[in-house]
Amino acid sequence: MDRIVFLGTAGARIAVFKQIRASGGIWLELNDTTILIDPGPGALVKSCTSKAKLDPQKIDGIFLSHRHLDHSADMNVMVEAMTTGGLKKRGFVFLPSDALGEEPVLWKYARDYVEKVITLREKKTYNLKNLKIHTSRKLIHSVETYGARFQGGKTISYIPDTRFFTELYKDFKGDILIINVVRKDISEYEHLSLEESKEIIRKLKPETAILTHFGMTMIRAKTWVLAEQLKEELGVNVIAARDGMQYKL
Ligand SMILES: [Zn+2]
Repeated sequence: MDRIVFLGTAGARIAVFKQIRASGGIWLELNDTTILIDPGPGALVKSCTSKAKLDPQKIDGIFLSHRHLDHSADMNVMVEAMTTGGLKKRGFVFLPSDALGEEPVLWKYARDYVEKVITLREKKTYNLKNLKIHTSRKLIHSVETYGARFQGGKTISYIPDTRFFTELYKDFKGDILIINVVRKDISEYEHLSLEESKEIIRKLKPETAILTHFGMTMIRAKTWVLAEQLKEELGVNVIAARDGMQYKL
């Protein structure tokens, strides 16, 4: 079954570190391939306790958009889960080069547990089982950051944390668009706002756009109400992700 399960929908400091929403990242099953995207704090707990019956030992790959803790805290935990604590050497890990440098996200001993560690570069295509992963150009965030399109039958695009720029939408054409909308209002922070996300959705016109990774301004304004407004305004199916939500493709 092709599906997306949201192991968390929190973004940025307060929503994540007070666990106002969960923060385990995005579980994607597509074309008989399972990939975990941005395993933030709680990824293991949220996958093992999910009503969607998710088995971390079946994960084929882990994709990290960038090294910030709300995206990466459970990286080593999930590598251990995927490899049964290193007993079964398997799985691919995709991550930016600065996640392997000083203060690495993926610890050295854990690199031997997986089949392959792949350093992401901009605008490249990588293979994972039956999926093709196309990275975006380097995004504008305080650390090295890439979005991606996961292609296998359908194409699922993922825009992680970034400052808005006019060309941004160009790397994210696909059937389903997942977009990290941290803030309701435009600000100097290197995160997308609702208004900027609206522009991106308007340009891309996906079949469905799913908003996630919410900060407090989005949560207070009721994410589902904001999504409904965008839907009416744009004529595109827009959904606000909820913790544990399963979206069947
Ligand atoms: Zn970030």
